[in-house]
Amino acid sequence: MEYKMLYGIWIVTFALRMLSVTAMTGKVLVVSFDGFRWDYLDIVSGIKNFPKFAAEGTYAEYMTSTFTTLTFSTHYSMATGLYQESHGLVSNYMYDPVFNESFSPRCPTANDQKWWGGQPIWITATLQGKKAGCLFWVSSEVEFDGVLPYLWRKYDNSMPFHERVDTVLDWFAYDDIDLGLIYFNQPDKAGHKYGPRSPEVAQQVRVVDEVLGYLVDGVRSRGLDSTLNVIVVSDHGMTNISLDRMIEIPRHADWSLVEQFVEVGAICHLFCKQGQLDVVYEQLARVHPNMTVYRRDDVPVHWHYSRNRRIGDLLLVMDEGWSCTENKTFSWNKNKGSHGYDNRLLSMKPIFMAQGPDIKRGYEIEPFMSLDLYPLTATLLGITPAPNNGTLRIVQDMIRKYTPRTKAVIEANNAPVATPVFGISLMTTTSLTLWRCLA
Ligand SMILES: [Zn+2]
Repeated sequence: MEYKMLYGIWIVTFALRMLSVTAMTGKVLVVSFDGFRWDYLDIVSGIKNFPKFAAEGTYAEYMTSTFTTLTFSTHYSMATGLYQESHGLVSNYMYDPVFNESFSPRCPTANDQKWWGGQPIWITATLQGKKAGCLFWVSSEVEFDGVLPYLWRKYDNSMPFHERVDTVLDWFAYDDIDLGLIYFNQPDKAGHKYGPRSPEVAQQVRVVDEVLGYLVDGVRSRGLDSTLNVIVVSDHGMTNISLDRMIEIPRHADWSLVEQFVEVGAICHLFCKQGQLDVVYEQLARVHPNMTVYRRDDVPVHWHYSRNRRIGDLLLVMDEGWSCTENKTFSWNKNKGSHGYDNRLLSMKPIFMAQGPDIKRGYEIEPFMSLDLYPLTATLLGITPAPNNGTLRIVQDMIRKYTPRTKAVIEANNAPVATPVFGISLMTTTSLTLWRCLA
């Protein structure tokens, strides 16, 4: 009798739980403005749509990106909810010693799944019966076990911003997608060329401010505002760099002992010839007070950036504003701005704001890790996330319809998860759970 009763309760609980997952019909659009440093909102005059959007929804003063604060790596962390050592996109340029192959965003094999660990949100959604549309988000052209987003476009830097907005909003209006992601390459481009405090960056901030207004108007004019939650983010901040704060690494080490020199700027990976790691470490360790050299295993734990074979035998991390390079004469060294530095620096922090039918209005939440966007988006969509390093501890507070059913989804999405497996790594369930508590 007692057993039957318990079994009955279990059946009802299970049914409610399944109902809770399927009953949330909210749709989500995630918008990224590359390199939008959080305090542009305070230091750039003449912007109106970002403050209005934040006031009408929920915002955080800033987010904290995963380390390294580089575009591909951080966008992919937001998409998967994984630290970079977990998803394997450890920088924009990489070397994989097992593949014996290099990666760059423009290389012909960049869309090969072998480079991309974990599961992006649009694949998670697609596998659970949702329709996703991706416009230019990092990795949206990658086929994951034969699965692509329902709608996507090949990256076209020249597509005007208004056309990008119309394309994705029309996907919601006419193709009935549930999840959309859209990417804009400003104000990052201006930030690199002119530096974060330049009039040119201010101008581009005003340009994307107008684009955000156009997007909000487009959501309303298509009648999407009662179903669509819009999340606005960036991937990292920006800081000033200069030629007189550049260190030419080959001048300070016996280059015949170095196998691969990967990435330049805020960080650099060095892969050493067999048996030469200690020699090269000793040559570089005390070269400059503004450069810290780590053996892979000694990278500080808080960066979650050691357990992947694509992280160099030696990782060079520059202090803010300093750069490592092979040669100062390379053209990109003339840039006035850069990023990729320590994710704890305020200059590296990106923005977060969201509004929509399921998001609280006029609400501020405390800063959180950008990888929490993955479980947040999954919760708003009412789907079960893949294993990830994110947590809902902070971001769940922004959800307006905090009903028992929503609560069940949140609990399901906050449950301990299995260990993500990728590369040589990676983590134990214990450490993953710990990060959830500390995040
Ligand atoms: Zn950039």
